[in-house]
Amino acid sequence: MDLQIKNKRALVLAASEGLGKAVAKELADEGARVLISSRSEAKLQATAQEVGAEGYICCDLENPASVQQLIEQVQARFGGIDILITNAGGPPPGGFHDIDDVQWQSAFQSLFMAVVTLVRAFQPAMAAQQWGRIVMITSVAGKEPIPNLTISNALRAGVHGLMNSLSKELGAEGITVNAVLPSYTETDRVRQLGAKEQFVQQIPAGRLGQPQELAKLVAFLSSDAAGFISGQAVGFDGGALMGV
Ligand code: NAD
Repeated sequence: MDLQIKNKRALVLAASEGLGKAVAKELADEGARVLISSRSEAKLQATAQEVGAEGYICCDLENPASVQQLIEQVQARFGGIDILITNAGGPPPGGFHDIDDVQWQSAFQSLFMAVVTLVRAFQPAMAAQQWGRIVMITSVAGKEPIPNLTISNALRAGVHGLMNSLSKELGAEGITVNAVLPSYTETDRVRQLGAKEQFVQQIPAGRLGQPQELAKLVAFLSSDAAGFISGQAVGFDGGALMGV
């Protein structure tokens, strides 16, 4: 299928490694002009070259000033974007009593407020051209809370509410807004946790997801063909989610 995103301008957040990196590669392979972002310049430089991204911009999503600088640099370079893929580093684990206010605020900034700020910045140009795609990489935890991941459970659900609200408000502007909810997907970070067997047992498909598979789903939701799909929280989970 031709996704018809050749030369579309895409920004992929938290993309030096893992899921973001796989998405950047898939979009670049489809002919999109891709900018990637994360904190480390050295990693970004190597990843941009590896995946065929047009460039990279350093940004710490936990720092609002850094997000603002990212926006300015993207605007200077691309004059707007067509495809926004939001993603972030995973928040710290822990139950309610383990988490202090600093951790809540940092996670709220990177998982939620950064999304608000970036959508606010890039939506006007998408609306002006009557075409835009926003895909938020979140987690199955936002639909079915996972024990000991209280920050993720709370904030991802909030992002899903934002995503669905935006789909209503931006629909007439030719902008679709969706979320992709990974369950255990075999990135380096998950491999390093060293609990593969335990994770696999929770997935009906009997294996972990692969980043390239998630990337194909995100690329489809970013495509012209997916123009009538909006407001959806799409599980990428090998059948793990229980809800109907
Ligand atoms: P990863 O650790 O492999 O990659 C995370 C990326 O985020 C890296 O590029 C890192 O540099 C970047 N990053 C971290 N903190 C940042 C910050 N403050 N500012 C900017 N960039 C930052 O993780 P992953 O497995 O690719 O997961 C990506 C997201 O998906 C995370 O939010 C994770 O919680 C979520 N998720 C992953 C899985 C999974 O199984 N891989 C499952 C559910 C949810």
